[in-house]
Amino acid sequence: MHKTIYKKEILNLLQNEIIDFYENIRNEKVAPCVAPAEIKAFLNEHFDFKKPMELQEVILEVEKMLRKWNLHVTHPRYFGLFCPSVTFASIIADALVALYNPQLASWNHSPIGNEIEQFSLGFFLEKFGFDPENRIAHFTSGGAESNLTATIVALTHKFPGYGKAGLRSLSGQPVFYVSQEAHHSFLKIAHMTGLGRESLRVIKTDNNYTMEIEDLKEKIREDTHKGFIPFMVVGTAGTTSAGMIDPLGEIAELCRKNDLWFHVDAAWGGAAILSDRLGKYLAGIEKSDSITFDAHKWLSVPMGAGMFFCRHIEAVKKSFYSETTYMPGKVKETTDYYSSTIQWSRRFIGLKLFMTLAELGEGGLAEMIEKQGELGKYLSIELQKSGWKIITESPLAVVCFTHEKFGENITLMKQLVDKLYERGRAWISTVILKEKTPAFRACISSYRAEKSDVDVLIKELNVLLSTY
Ligand SMILES: *Cc1c(COP(=O)(O)O)cnc(C)c1O
Repeated sequence: MHKTIYKKEILNLLQNEIIDFYENIRNEKVAPCVAPAEIKAFLNEHFDFKKPMELQEVILEVEKMLRKWNLHVTHPRYFGLFCPSVTFASIIADALVALYNPQLASWNHSPIGNEIEQFSLGFFLEKFGFDPENRIAHFTSGGAESNLTATIVALTHKFPGYGKAGLRSLSGQPVFYVSQEAHHSFLKIAHMTGLGRESLRVIKTDNNYTMEIEDLKEKIREDTHKGFIPFMVVGTAGTTSAGMIDPLGEIAELCRKNDLWFHVDAAWGGAAILSDRLGKYLAGIEKSDSITFDAHKWLSVPMGAGMFFCRHIEAVKKSFYSETTYMPGKVKETTDYYSSTIQWSRRFIGLKLFMTLAELGEGGLAEMIEKQGELGKYLSIELQKSGWKIITESPLAVVCFTHEKFGENITLMKQLVDKLYERGRAWISTVILKEKTPAFRACISSYRAEKSDVDVLIKELNVLLSTY
């Protein structure tokens, strides 16, 4: 294969790319302007998989394509969904993982991988205040898988017959509750688990865009009366649309009274637990039965790095239990992931989080999050100065806003963001809140964003607004 000297040349190429992209990303356009046909034609022309190519040439082509035809979520002026700029440590970590390709399915195959992950997850279990005697956690591909895990574990915990005889063995139809602003992965989960999409009950939100407890109480009462079996309530800590946090403490109390599983979807907002200043917004999360929290959102590591935390070891093990003759033997006092999670073959997901935490310390990460929260406030203030109207302002880092020129016209709003993308200097999205209120949505998703980046966004918006 490749000679050592050649490998070094190739690695030099990679090194130059990493440094150049990392340092000069601000000079790139945030969003690409391309149609599928253009990319397809390019691929057809340059790659046929028949005659081998020099790796160097392949790398250069791939880099060129990635630069040109990718929405750069690591751009400091990507004010989009919860896709972060990634830490330098996490880029190195993912390269090391590719090099060693550790198999984390069983402890036996990667003692160090397993222990590093458990060490890192243990740090957060502690932060979330779960009882040391009965807590368990693992990495997932992302929040959707963590939410699916939670639902399966909740069903297994609540209905002893579910695992063996399935839903049909139950005396009624199980139902579960999310708010209007909850993540749509739960609809797919209702479908995939066999519960059916109709088993998902959607609770109204109040003026704060958070779950209305009275409506939740009412719906639970109604369902129980009709013979449905409520089993879980999901509180969202950091809604995808507006970054709002459901009243976790009140939901916890209601769940306790009604013997319901309380899951918190904190895919993005969970990071606030690291900050003394922002952690208070998660009050009540310590009373949950399980938590979804993505390191690949606000902890600034690459996808996919979801995490699932739970305070019921037995329920988790019972849900994913498996024994085979071809898997290596169990090592005492360890838990094999293949037999306690959805995945089988398992990538070393946790290294990028471990290395980031080790390099920056929890204080360093907290500072990054707090800085983004502050910039969110700055954005809101500056928008208002220019005559924009704030619709929602999360205590975290999401601002939803509009301008009187747009009324309720989502089409007009989409036109504006399309023009913004064409200009390529900043990226925001549109959203419809409560299924009726259209808004522009901006999230400070890059820890590398500065006030000057927010200024550029506002200038762009004002320039575009003047054409309406
Ligand atoms: C992003 C998000 C999800 C889905 O997580 P993935 O990592 O994209 O699978 C679920 N819930 C909330 C609140 C989210 O923000």
